[in-house]
Amino acid sequence: MRIGIVGGSGRMGQMLIREVLGNKDATLSGATERPGSAAIGRDLGTLIGADPVGVALTDDADALFAVSDAVIDFTAPAATVAHAALAARHGTALIVGTTGLSPDDHARLTEAATKAPLVVAANFSLGVTLLAGLVRKVAATLGPDWDIEVVEMHHRHKVDAPSGTALALGRAAASGRGVDLADVKDAVRDGHTGARKVGDIGFATLRGGDVVGDHTVIFATEAERLELSHKAGSRAIFARGAVRAALWAAGKAPGVYSMDDVLDL
Ligand code: NAD
Repeated sequence: MRIGIVGGSGRMGQMLIREVLGNKDATLSGATERPGSAAIGRDLGTLIGADPVGVALTDDADALFAVSDAVIDFTAPAATVAHAALAARHGTALIVGTTGLSPDDHARLTEAATKAPLVVAANFSLGVTLLAGLVRKVAATLGPDWDIEVVEMHHRHKVDAPSGTALALGRAAASGRGVDLADVKDAVRDGHTGARKVGDIGFATLRGGDVVGDHTVIFATEAERLELSHKAGSRAIFARGAVRAALWAAGKAPGVYSMDDVLDL
C-alpha cells in the first residue's frame, strides 16, 4: 500500500511521515510541500530527524497522487480543495484532516468524492470518535432542560475557532437532539448577552502553550452536571488514525466516509 503525504514539513505532516515509515503494511510513496517552501528537496527521513530514506520532499502534488494508493492531507483549506481535485483525477483515496473548511470547501470535497473515496474527519483519534458517539447518545437521552456546552483548549498556533473537533462534538449533540447545529450554535459571548437560550449549544475556546487538544462536553441542569472529556497527549494519535483510515480507504468505492466507517462503529 503506497501512502503519500501532502504538507510533509508541517507539524502533522512530519508525524504522518514517521507513522507511515513505521507501519509494516505501508510504503511511503513521497511527500509534498507548498511551492516555495524552504524544505523542498530535503530527504523525508532527515526532515523528521531520522535516517535518510532516499526520497525527497517535492512540490509536485500531481505526480504524488499518480504514484499513491492513498494520500493524507493535513494542510490548509485551499490546498485541500486542490488536492481533492487531484484525488478525483487519479482515483486516489484522500484522507482529509484539515479543519476550518467552509461549506463551499465541503461541497468541493463532495464533488471529488463522486470519483474517489474520501475519509473526512475533524479528529482522527479513536477516543474522540468514541466520545462523539457517547455525546450523541447522552444528548438524545437528556431533555432540553439540560444545557449543553462544549469547551476546548489548543496550542497557541491554532488559527481556527472553535476547533473542528468541538464543532463535530456540537453536531453530535445536535443530532442526538434531532436539531441542526446551525440553528442552536452559540459560539460568541461578549458583553451583555442576556440569559442563555433554552436548547442552545454553547462553545468556549481556550488557546495557549502547546496543548495538543482538550475537549469537554458539559451537560448541566439544576443541581446536576455531567462532563465527558478527552485529552490528547500527542499528535501521534491523529497520525495513527489517519494512516489506519488510508489503509482502509484505498480501493473503496468513491464516496465521503467518516472515522465511524473506518472503525466500523
Ligand atoms: P502546520 O501549519 O504545521 O502544517 C500545515 C502544512 O501544510 C505546512 O507545512 C504548509 O506549508 C503545508 N501546505 C500548505 N499549503 C500546501 C500545499 N498547497 N501543498 C502542500 N503543502 C501545503 O499545521 P498543522 O498543525 O500540521 O495542522 C494542519 C491542519 O490539520 C490544520 O487544519 C489542523 O487543524 C488540522 N489537524 C487536524 C487533526 C485531525 O485529527 N483531523 C489533528 C491535528 C491537526
